[in-house]
Amino acid sequence: MLFTYQKSNTKKLMMTQTNSPRRSGPARFRPRVGNKRPAQKRGGYSGGARHNEPRNERINEYVSKGENTLKIIPLGGQEEVGRNMTIFEYGKDIVILDMGVQFPEEDMPGIDYIIPNISYLQGKEKNIRGVIFSHGHLDHIGAAPILLDKLNYPPIVGRDLTICLVKKRLEDYAKNSAKKLHVIPVKSTEDKIKLGNFNISFFDIEHSIMDAVGVILQTPSATVIHPGDWTMDKDPISGKFLSYDHLSYLPSPKVLMLESLGAVDNRPSHTTEKEMYANLERLISEATGKVIIGTFSSQIRRVGHILEYARSIGKKVALDGFSMKMNVEIAKELGYIKADKETLITVNDLHKYPENKIIIVCTGAQGEGNAVLSRIITGDHRFIKVRKQDTVIFSSSVIPGNERTIQRLKDNLYRQCDNVIHSDIMDVHTSGHCNAQNIKEMIKQVKPDFFLPTYANHYMLKESAKLAVEAGMHKANIFVLDNGSVLEFSSQGEPKLHDKKAPSSYVFVDGLGVGDIGQVVLRDRQAMAQDGMFVVIITLDSQTGQVRNSPDIISRGFIYMRESKDLLYQVRQKVKDIVHHSTGNKGHIDEEYIKDQVRDKIGQFLYTRTERRPMVLPVLIEV
Ligand SMILES: [Zn+2]
Repeated sequence: MLFTYQKSNTKKLMMTQTNSPRRSGPARFRPRVGNKRPAQKRGGYSGGARHNEPRNERINEYVSKGENTLKIIPLGGQEEVGRNMTIFEYGKDIVILDMGVQFPEEDMPGIDYIIPNISYLQGKEKNIRGVIFSHGHLDHIGAAPILLDKLNYPPIVGRDLTICLVKKRLEDYAKNSAKKLHVIPVKSTEDKIKLGNFNISFFDIEHSIMDAVGVILQTPSATVIHPGDWTMDKDPISGKFLSYDHLSYLPSPKVLMLESLGAVDNRPSHTTEKEMYANLERLISEATGKVIIGTFSSQIRRVGHILEYARSIGKKVALDGFSMKMNVEIAKELGYIKADKETLITVNDLHKYPENKIIIVCTGAQGEGNAVLSRIITGDHRFIKVRKQDTVIFSSSVIPGNERTIQRLKDNLYRQCDNVIHSDIMDVHTSGHCNAQNIKEMIKQVKPDFFLPTYANHYMLKESAKLAVEAGMHKANIFVLDNGSVLEFSSQGEPKLHDKKAPSSYVFVDGLGVGDIGQVVLRDRQAMAQDGMFVVIITLDSQTGQVRNSPDIISRGFIYMRESKDLLYQVRQKVKDIVHHSTGNKGHIDEEYIKDQVRDKIGQFLYTRTERRPMVLPVLIEV
């Protein structure tokens, strides 16, 4: 048992008590380790039940709907960074938060990205009341074009920039698809939206993209508080310090779902945006050659800041990279970025200006093969060449898995340029994410009854859970979920973690194919990448079942054929033997059986001779 309940007359109590002295929420809920808070004045939140408000109306509304429960089902983002998507289901109402992509790992050759598995929603499409997007980063909106289409375009909810980025992504994926969107815009964090039985409200958070917003999903069973991606910047650009105290006044039980990427970041304080900008400004103003800044295209605010600074000192800025230009264009239209024609120039016009007046902001700081920064460094860019006196700044963190690529890129760059700056040398990047200290601070301010760390790798979630304990929470009130876990809050506010999980296996996107690449295809690719492939083409006489001519062999990535004549000779002999034994004297040809035999026996033979396991592909031709 996690809680003590007032078992008897719960409902009666709820129905009759109108001027409850209780702090919030119905009397039914009393967490084992509560955050004792004396009755105090309530914050500006109007979505919750207030002390002096008649409660009957609200309660009747809930009770008449029957004993409903809230299910929280993360489909992704619990075991990795990316693919963020969570289902909230209350009775027949479903609300979804975020639809992100995950970028492939090194052992997933050829995969473009991975999207959440939405099998759980099949047959429930009509119950989806809305999809809320917390902000416009790809790990939160990237899967929207595919998933919204599959789910028959439920209403989408988000702030302006986020919605614009979602629309743009839809249009890029399928022309005119954005027309099918039904948008519920969030014009201010004061807005309140009703999606079925969910009362949705919002709160300000700090993150590295404009219009990022925290989301509150209030149901009769529990109140979920989800900041999306967040940081606690002690010295934010806006000058205002964000406090989350007001969230502690929300009705209990309060469930805090907290992005916990920074749980393993134990630095006492991280570089503030202000310090980061000061560093960038100094580098730009002192540069004697041109300045090339590689960053994420999603760092719209940073690009905006560079544009404004450039204008103030009379330098020109050229943007390069499709997504970079697109994002800045959208932000300009919304008025989030000021960029006059004098300052913002095109790369084609760079030659018209002295080198020390030029700033190039481009994508590709992760070493992506054909991205702009890589092309500049490898000398493949049409307009931009690196010179010794230039300043090249990597203003981004390294995405795990890209370390070696970036090191190679840096080696190449250091040969060409004397001024290469990256985060190891100077703080020219802030992550936009919290650190360990922030997580504890957030918990102390929000005073949640339950804590669900989210949006990070499993080990980070576990570390975040430890921080929650340090911040005073009881272990029993913390749930580290997996992808597909189903955590249900009863109408009494009691949590239950189900044994059975919702499907959450990878859905790979490769080129135009969505989900058509499964684990089998991927294993094949891994095998081919490891040891190559070995094709055996056998021509069979359909009358006798015997091998005609000598089998043809094609090998790729396995052995060099010309130097392996002996081995190939033996393989051909072996193939003939295998076929002979497989068809026997009857001459009956069972194609599948012969293929299996060749695959297994030749595979074994090659392994004993080479200790490699190429993919063996037998091809039978009957003549
Ligand atoms: Zn983000």
